[in-house]
Amino acid sequence: MARTHIAGFPRIGAQRELKFAQEAFWRGETDEASLRQVATGLRQRHWQSQAQAGLDSVAVGDFAYYDQVLGLSALLGALPARFGFDPKQLSLAQYFELARGNKAQPAMEMTKWFDTNYHYLVPELGPDTRFDGGVDWFFDEVEEALALGLKAKPVLIGPVTYLWLSKTHVDGFDRLSLLPSLVAAYGRILARLRDRGIEWVQIDEPALCLDLEPAWLDAYDGAYAELAKSGVKLLLATYFDNAADHAARAAALPVHGFHIDLVRAPQQLDAWRKVLPAGAVLSAGVIDGRNIWRTDLRRALSVLAPLHAELGERLWVAPSCSLLHVPVSLEAERKLDAQIKTWLAFATEKLAEVSVLARALNEGEAAVAPELAAADAALASRRSSSRVVNQQVQARVAAVTAAMAQRKSPFQTRIERQRTALQLPALPTTTIGSFPQTTAIRQTRAAYRRGEIGALEYLQRIRGEIETAVRKQEALGLDVLVHGEAERNDMVEYFGEQLCGYTFTENGWVQSYGSRCVKPPVIYGDVYRPEPMTVETTRYAQSLTERPMKGMLTGPVTMLQWSFVRDDQPRATTTLQLALAIRDEVSDLEQAGIRIIQIDEPALREGLPLRKGDWAAYLDWAVHAFKISAASVEDQTQIHTHMCYAEFNDILPAIAALDADVITIETSRSAMELLEGFGEFDYPNEIGPGVYDIHSPRVPSVEAITHLLERACEVIPPQRLWVNPDCGLKTRAWPETEAALANMVAAARGLREQIGKDGATAWQRATRRTGLGGHAAHHGAAHAAGCVDCASQAA
Ligand code: GLN
Ligand code: ZN
Repeated sequence: MARTHIAGFPRIGAQRELKFAQEAFWRGETDEASLRQVATGLRQRHWQSQAQAGLDSVAVGDFAYYDQVLGLSALLGALPARFGFDPKQLSLAQYFELARGNKAQPAMEMTKWFDTNYHYLVPELGPDTRFDGGVDWFFDEVEEALALGLKAKPVLIGPVTYLWLSKTHVDGFDRLSLLPSLVAAYGRILARLRDRGIEWVQIDEPALCLDLEPAWLDAYDGAYAELAKSGVKLLLATYFDNAADHAARAAALPVHGFHIDLVRAPQQLDAWRKVLPAGAVLSAGVIDGRNIWRTDLRRALSVLAPLHAELGERLWVAPSCSLLHVPVSLEAERKLDAQIKTWLAFATEKLAEVSVLARALNEGEAAVAPELAAADAALASRRSSSRVVNQQVQARVAAVTAAMAQRKSPFQTRIERQRTALQLPALPTTTIGSFPQTTAIRQTRAAYRRGEIGALEYLQRIRGEIETAVRKQEALGLDVLVHGEAERNDMVEYFGEQLCGYTFTENGWVQSYGSRCVKPPVIYGDVYRPEPMTVETTRYAQSLTERPMKGMLTGPVTMLQWSFVRDDQPRATTTLQLALAIRDEVSDLEQAGIRIIQIDEPALREGLPLRKGDWAAYLDWAVHAFKISAASVEDQTQIHTHMCYAEFNDILPAIAALDADVITIETSRSAMELLEGFGEFDYPNEIGPGVYDIHSPRVPSVEAITHLLERACEVIPPQRLWVNPDCGLKTRAWPETEAALANMVAAARGLREQIGKDGATAWQRATRRTGLGGHAAHHGAAHAAGCVDCASQAA
C-alpha cells in the first residue's frame, strides 16, 4: 500500500483570511485572541481538506503567523538579542516586531526562500546565540491536530538548512560552530514529539540541493547521528532541485526516509533508488508544488508503478514541495475560462491528485477510472487546443536568428549617435518609471474596471495624470522624462492583459511575505501581441514636452519570472515568445518618435538556478531573449534597462552582455558596494546607480546624494553616469517624491558645475579613467585621479 502526504499547505487561506486578520491586528483593531482564532480555523480547515482527500497524515507546523523560518527561530528561542525579548514569553505582537521592526529596532532581514518568490526572515546568529527553547506554538498546533483525531506529521526545517539560511554580523564567526547546541535543541523538540506519540517527523533540508562546501556536508553526518537518538522516524526532505550528488551520503544518514523532488529533477530518481537503504521510505514528489497545472496522472503513474512494485508501503506519494507556492483552491474561480480551468490544479486539487495516484497504485487503475479519464480529457484538450498552439508564433520563434539579437553598431558608435540626437547634459537625470499611485489614480482604475466610467472618461483621466507627471518633472528640471505608469496596476499584469496566451485568476493568491500576497498571471498558450500596448500613451506623453520621453516596458525574463508559466514547453521558448512581442512594441515606439525605451528586467537575477553549474545555460537564453526584445532599433534610439534589489556582482558579464545603452540599478542600500563590482569588471556602457532608496519616505539631502555620486565617480567614468533613484516611485507620495527629486537634480547640477569649472581638463582626466575600473578597490589613487569632485578640488 503506497502512502500519501504533503510537505505543507498554503497558510494564507482561500480568501486571504490570514492576511486580513494579521493586518487588523497590526492596526490595533483586534486582539491576539481573535488573530489566534482565525489561525486555528485555517489550520483546521486545511487539515480537514487533507484528511478528506484521504491522505495518510496531515502536515503540522507548516502554519506561520508571518514566516516559517521566524516561527522556527521562535521555537528554538534564537531571537536577535537586540530586541531584548524573552524568548519563552514572546507575544504575538513581539513576534511581529521581529518581522516588521519597531521604533527602536529595524526588522530582521528578509530574503528569498531559495528560488521562489516567497521571502523568509533571516535568522541572526552569533557567538552568544542560545537555543534554550522559546514559545510552544508549534507544540500547541500538534496538540490541536491530535485533538481532532488526525494523524499528525510535524514538519520542521532541518538544522543544517536553518544554519545555512542564517546570517551573522560578527566578523569571523563560523555559524557551523553553533551546530552542536542547535542539534541538541532539535533533539529536545523531537523527544517531546515522541512523547506525544508522533511516529514520523518531516525534516526539510533543501540546502542539500545546493553546491555545498565539504564542511556543510559533514555537518549533516554529525547532526543526524544525534537526531537519530530521538526515537521518532525522520523523513529527510529535499526539494527545488537535484540532490543526486549527495544521495549516497544522505542515504548513509540514520534517518528512515527521503523525500525528493521529481518534478524539478526527475533525473535524480535512479541515483536515489541505487542507494536507498533496505527499509527506508522514498517519498516521490511527482506533483508540481510550484506550478498550477493539472498533473499528467498517467505519466506520474508510469514513474510510480515500478517504485511501488519495489517498495510497496515504503513508497509515499506527494507533491514535489510544500504547496505554499500555489493558490489554495480553484473553487473560488468563477470568471476563469471554463476550458482553461479544467487544465489547472491549485493546492486543494493537488491533494485529490495525490490521493488518486495512491489509489491507482493500491487498488488498481480501475478503482479511479473516472478520475483518470477526467485527467486524460483535460490533458488532451490542453494539448490539442488551438488556444495553446499558434502556428505563426511557433514559426516566428523557429525563425529567430542570432543576427536579430545584435544592434546595428557597437556601443561606441551608438552612444555617439545618441548623444548627438538627444543633446543631454552631463550626468543626465531621470526616474525609473512609476510616479506615486495616488488614491485618485487607483480609484480611476477601479472605477473603469467595474464599468462605472467609460473608456473615454478613463482615457481622459489617465491623460490628466500623465500631464501632471510631465509638468512636475519639467518643473523639477529632470532631463529624461517618464509618463508615470498611472494606467498600470502591476508591471507584469498590465502587459499580460494585452498579450494573447495569458489569463488571470480572481483569487490565485500566493504568499510573498507576511501578509503580502501576489496573484501571478498564467501563461497558458503561445504568446503574441495582437496590437500595440503602450504606443498611444507614450506618444501622448511625448507630445506634452520637448524633452525626451522614455518608453517603459517590462522585459521578457521578468514577464516569465513573475507569472505561472507553461510546463509543456521549455521556459526559454516561452521567454522568446515574450521577447518577440516586446520587440514589436519597441519598434512601434521607435516609429512613433520615442527616442529612449526602457525595458525593465528586475527579475533577471532571481531566475538564476540554484546550482552554479546551471547558471550559464540560463543566462544564455535569458540574455538572448532580452537582446531579441531590444535589438531591432536604430543606433540613435537609446535602450535602457533597469534592475533592482539583488546581488548583481556575480552576473556582471551577463548584464554587460545585455548590451543595453544604459542600465539603471539599485545601489543606495548597499552604499554603492555594487558599483565597485561594476568598476572592477569595467562595465562598458552607461550606468545610473540609484542615488536614493525609494523604500523609505525619507528625503535624501543634496549632500548625501552628492556623496553617493562622488563615490560612483570613483568607479565609473562620469561621462557614462546617469542620476536617478533606486527604483520606481509608485509606493511613495508626491510631497516626498518632489522634495527628493529636487535634491537629486540639485546634486547632479552641482557636480556638473564642478566639471564645468575645471573645463576640459576634468573631463579629460575623467575620460582617461575609462580603463581604470580595476583600480576601484584601491580608493586613493583612482579617487584622486578620476572623480569630478576630487579633480576640481585638486585644481
Ligand atoms: N518601471 C517600473 C517602475 O518604475 C520598474 C519597477 C521595478 O523595477 N520593480 O515601477
Ligand atoms: Zn526596480
